[in-house]
Amino acid sequence: MGRIFCAIVVGAAALSWAAHAETPADVLKKPLPPVFDPAAIDQSVEPCFDFYQHACGAWLKASPIPPDQQIWWRISQLDEHIRAALAAILEEAAAGHGANTQSRRKIGDYYASCLDESEIDAKGLKPFAPELARIAALEDKKELAELVGHLHLLGTKPLFSFSSTQDYTDASMMIAQADQDGFALPDRDYYLTDEFKEERAAYRAHLARMFSLLGDGAKKAGAEAEAVMHVETTLANAAMGLVRRREPKNVHHKMTLAEFAKLTPSFDWMAYLAEVGAPAFASLDVSDPDFFEALEPLLKSVSIADWKAYLRWTVVHGLVSSAPKPFVDEDFAFFDRRLRGQAEIHARWKRCVDATDEQLGEALGEAYVEREFSPAAKQRVLAMTRQIEKAMETAIETLDWMSDKTKARALEKLASVTNKIGYPDKWRDYSKLEIVRGDALGNMERASGFEIRRQLAKIGKAVDPGEWSATPATNNASYDPQMNEINIPAGILQPPNFAMKEDDAANYGNVGVVIGHELTHGFDDEGRHYDAHGNLQDWWTKKDTEAFEARASGFIDEYGAFVAVAKDIHVDGKLTLGENMADNGGIRLSFNAFLTASGAATGAKDSFGHTPAQRFFLSYAQGWCVNSTDEFAKEAAKTDPHSPGKYRVNGVLVNTPAFREAFACKPGAPMAPATMYRVW
Ligand SMILES: [Zn+2]
Repeated sequence: MGRIFCAIVVGAAALSWAAHAETPADVLKKPLPPVFDPAAIDQSVEPCFDFYQHACGAWLKASPIPPDQQIWWRISQLDEHIRAALAAILEEAAAGHGANTQSRRKIGDYYASCLDESEIDAKGLKPFAPELARIAALEDKKELAELVGHLHLLGTKPLFSFSSTQDYTDASMMIAQADQDGFALPDRDYYLTDEFKEERAAYRAHLARMFSLLGDGAKKAGAEAEAVMHVETTLANAAMGLVRRREPKNVHHKMTLAEFAKLTPSFDWMAYLAEVGAPAFASLDVSDPDFFEALEPLLKSVSIADWKAYLRWTVVHGLVSSAPKPFVDEDFAFFDRRLRGQAEIHARWKRCVDATDEQLGEALGEAYVEREFSPAAKQRVLAMTRQIEKAMETAIETLDWMSDKTKARALEKLASVTNKIGYPDKWRDYSKLEIVRGDALGNMERASGFEIRRQLAKIGKAVDPGEWSATPATNNASYDPQMNEINIPAGILQPPNFAMKEDDAANYGNVGVVIGHELTHGFDDEGRHYDAHGNLQDWWTKKDTEAFEARASGFIDEYGAFVAVAKDIHVDGKLTLGENMADNGGIRLSFNAFLTASGAATGAKDSFGHTPAQRFFLSYAQGWCVNSTDEFAKEAAKTDPHSPGKYRVNGVLVNTPAFREAFACKPGAPMAPATMYRVW
């Protein structure tokens, strides 16, 4: 639900430079860009003609995609800065310096083991041998469930996923959850539609090459690739598409364990649950019962030999980052270069920082906030958040299409939103996780198992309201409808999203809109189905639902007309509806909060001649300046619920009267069309 940023950085002179040669110290030497940068503007493009091109044009020209990136935002430099700061912490921890608490030792050992490519290469496939042998020993399909459970605990993803979630009928409690999974391409359509025929052919070849690397002859590898394609295509075909998954009632089905087990009688669920160590439970949330029903004929028809091929693939694919170099290179060549257009692999240190953040995020995050986070920033952002919540209160009260009855429930929900800003009050305890210096694969498997067991242990317990889903070093934000909370981690509260030294216009235009965006998610096409307590419960009158849907369909039409990549791939107006609603609501809320806070939309101009309101909108637009590969854009059009950067700017501002006023756009100008869409 968050604001997708992705990748990494470098400046204008980047084309000739090898990304993998850059060290964390090199990255830390570069200043972060300002929140609002007049030098990014292309003055040759009129603001009322194409505001995105106006605000970002000079930056777009000067900032080609670095070779180790698929997408390059103006804000990507902060991702790079965060990675480098984390690397500095990890290098110190690995060298045994610093406080050397137990958790510092663990992050240092995890990072050092991951970095040691020569040790990983020297061991070859030996660390994988026990798992591969266990798969090879499979003799009876009845043993499949226990084996799948074992492989899930290593962090691999055969067949489906099993974890815990908040109970959608009582959001204060946690219950077990089973969901679709088990296929590696980015979306089900990659297996099924003509649009992805070429990607499918390349994937088949990739599968065969991975089996060859595992030591199989060409003929066997080809047959194994076909077996994997068959299993994954069947799973993808049974899986629910992303647009249907946006409707909460489509992905929440409470069933008893006995009812669930009946969907797949050939799978020994008791053996699976015993293997993963799930606590006893009577009922669970099955996201997609049809998917589990479709597993049954697959379990019956696929041979033992083909199951072995599929499971070997899930192991080597799921754990590839700790495999020898030829596997890592082959994985990069398909998933990053072929599918996403990335020219060069990330430097090893970047990959190992990301892996440590993913596996030990709060141990690393504790060190990160000590080093990088300012309590003064938290106070200012909290004050901005309160202003934005007040703006939302006014927006709801003055809506002309909603009844007083539904408004009262909306206001109740708004008043119940929790704001999590910066980092958790209580840090996660990793004392029971064993990390061994020099055992990269074992560390990865144990850390995955530790996290899966932690999630499963929640089944049947009360929800922990203090838990964070994002790590503190995350340059992103999110809204969680079941917690009814917004998450603004420490990582995002830095330039070019936010800076203490910048004025309200710049900060409200950027991070303020992000906060307004997350708040609006509570009331978008998904979030509106949850009540103030996070329960899935309809609190809308029938007439208000109809009015909401009529207004939402305006956004579906507007964004569906935008071209995402090449000539023929459009933005999916339904997939992106919630994010577009959040963008449109977020800018209105933040602008109104900014007016209240500063009272100065038309106040003194800055040294470049911009009014405060103009600075607000320029700062907003510059949050979305982006260059991306066509391959990345094609995948994003299929899977990313966010619209491309250009439309997050222009698609929103054409609906924003305050923008037209600020730049005196004449009616009928491209940025001031006659029709304006609005929900919130
Ligand atoms: Zn969002």
